[in-house]
Amino acid sequence: MGTITRDCPHCHSANSTFNTFGEFSDPNTNTPKVYTVALRCGGCHEGYIIRAEQLGGQSPCRISGNLETSKYLKVIREYPEAITAEYPKYLPDNIEKFYIQAADSLKAGSYDASAIMSRKVLEVSVKKLQPDGKGSLYQRIERLYEIGKITDDLKSWAHIIRGDGNDAAHEEDPVTNLFAEQLLDFTEMFLMYTFTMPGMVSTKKISISEGV
Ligand SMILES: [Zn+2]
Repeated sequence: MGTITRDCPHCHSANSTFNTFGEFSDPNTNTPKVYTVALRCGGCHEGYIIRAEQLGGQSPCRISGNLETSKYLKVIREYPEAITAEYPKYLPDNIEKFYIQAADSLKAGSYDASAIMSRKVLEVSVKKLQPDGKGSLYQRIERLYEIGKITDDLKSWAHIIRGDGNDAAHEEDPVTNLFAEQLLDFTEMFLMYTFTMPGMVSTKKISISEGV
């Protein structure tokens, strides 16, 4: 069984090992032979395809170990491309993970899960912004506004995420695509303002003070 190592475009594991499980010799190519090779992620078992030229030796599935160190095989194309998800930068690790789950769930059509994760992103962000904040999420959002950490508009968005995310967790009716999408948009804007922009500003400050 052959392997390649890639960041998984599905579960986003870094340096995941993909194992071959099938191959097809393209009848339209002969010198060199070109194979379409199916691999799966060792973490989430989702699929990955490479097109590879056979320069001698065994066919791709018969090669054991790393396909890319085999002198008999040359990878010429691969897909799906590792998607560098478009998400706000400078997020604390746990918030980034939750945000990616919210975004991935939306893409996968799991709208309820996405809405619930959007609310979780908000909840964890509010805690991070004000670690010693007390009371309900409602009160803690209000407090963030009072101490000038968020603007009036942002406070309104935060309350929308809080309320709608809560509904998604407790209502019997499934949430719609539009609902989950809007909630994620609000969440993204909230993160951009509270983490991304301050992160960009402090990076800029550092580079100015270093004379870069
Ligand atoms: Zn994976």
